Amino acid sequence: MSMVTCELCNQTGDDLSLREAVHKDMGKKWVCGDCWTNLYDKNSMIAGTTGGGGTFSCPGGCAGCRNA
Ligand SMILES: [Zn+2]
Repeated sequence: MSMVTCELCNQTGDDLSLREAVHKDMGKKWVCGDCWTNLYDKNSMIAGTTGGGGTFSCPGGCAGCRNA
């Protein structure tokens, strides 16, 4: 019913269970399971919801950034 699109590989479907990932360079993305695993494996993702231990700086063009 509701088509969703992975913001990384642009795979589209109505049965994609997108997951929220915060990419180190691209900020917050909704990605499919494959991409999520990929990001995780490559350590390209800012993991978890930390209380502010890390220094996350949005470079600017991050539309979905709500970390502020
Ligand atoms: Zn994907």
